Amino acid sequence: MKPAIIRARTAALAALMPLGVERWACARTAGLGVIFVLHRVLPAGEERYDGYPEHALRRLLRHMARNRAYHPVQVEAFLAPDPPPVPRGKRAVALVFDDGYRDQVDVVAPILAEFGVPATVFATTGFVDGELWMWWDRVEYAMRHTSRRSAPAGERVFDGLAWPPDAGARDQEAKRVVERLKLVPDARRLAFMAALEGMLEVNIPPTPPPEYAPTSWDEMRKQEATGLMRFGVHTHTHPVLARTDDATAFEEIRRGWERLREELASPCPVLAFPNGESGDFGPREIAMAAKAGLRGTLAMTPGLVSRGMGGADGVPLPRYHLPGELGSFRAIASGFEALRRGRVPKR
Ligand SMILES: [Zn+2]
Repeated sequence: MKPAIIRARTAALAALMPLGVERWACARTAGLGVIFVLHRVLPAGEERYDGYPEHALRRLLRHMARNRAYHPVQVEAFLAPDPPPVPRGKRAVALVFDDGYRDQVDVVAPILAEFGVPATVFATTGFVDGELWMWWDRVEYAMRHTSRRSAPAGERVFDGLAWPPDAGARDQEAKRVVERLKLVPDARRLAFMAALEGMLEVNIPPTPPPEYAPTSWDEMRKQEATGLMRFGVHTHTHPVLARTDDATAFEEIRRGWERLREELASPCPVLAFPNGESGDFGPREIAMAAKAGLRGTLAMTPGLVSRGMGGADGVPLPRYHLPGELGSFRAIASGFEALRRGRVPKR
């Protein structure tokens, strides 16, 4: 079944889901947890095709804080040797953010404080260090600002794209370029990125403009001290690890963890795999995370979390994208969606 169809059906079912069904599904899947992931969170008035509106996050956290079925936890709780007890019949729910953008701290922290909900941000440390832009943002920026009237010849990554990329299509075309680059060997991606400015005849500023900016170590320390926000490993430069050689893959994990430990008092010893879909990591990367001293890993595949899952060299924990609508949130968080699809792990 195609994801769009699944989403449509989930939304249709969620709209019909009365509170009683939410409670029933929670009880049927008691003892299991759920992890939700978000990327960009946008303040009112800002728009991005991949952005999650601030007001939608506030609405979902309000529901979670008021509904006694849910017990918000830090994601590390699922990996602790002795997970803290979750009150009987409650669903442990963890919220995480990937990448380390400024909005993930500036916009999110006040909302977490408002509802007393904790979260972990998996930060790309080279990004926070100011060494790099997120590479997909550089592609987007270059596609938005190119003055070329035709696609560069001889670069297959641009094959078949609409060109010139007009205002309506260019972000979508940039996304297609990024998706293609995620599949090639990492050395090939790096060569493409090094040639990007020249190929698209565009000047890319050395540091990202505000809409692509990272958070800062100072801000992370400040939020860490509140006790609601923690920071975990997302590599140093965000390659898709399975496309890198052994030395690069390990160094990306090791360096990311090292920088967090150098800058923060109590970083979260968990790795969220860049991109994180099946094929983006494997047994090699799971073993490397354990060797680097991390306690577990997170994937980007949907599913509920059981106690026995995860651990230093166990399977990566699954995560759901946080849906935008309350109905879909209730369907997933309650376990209804997993029950409906027959995908409930053993407790
Ligand atoms: Zn990421």
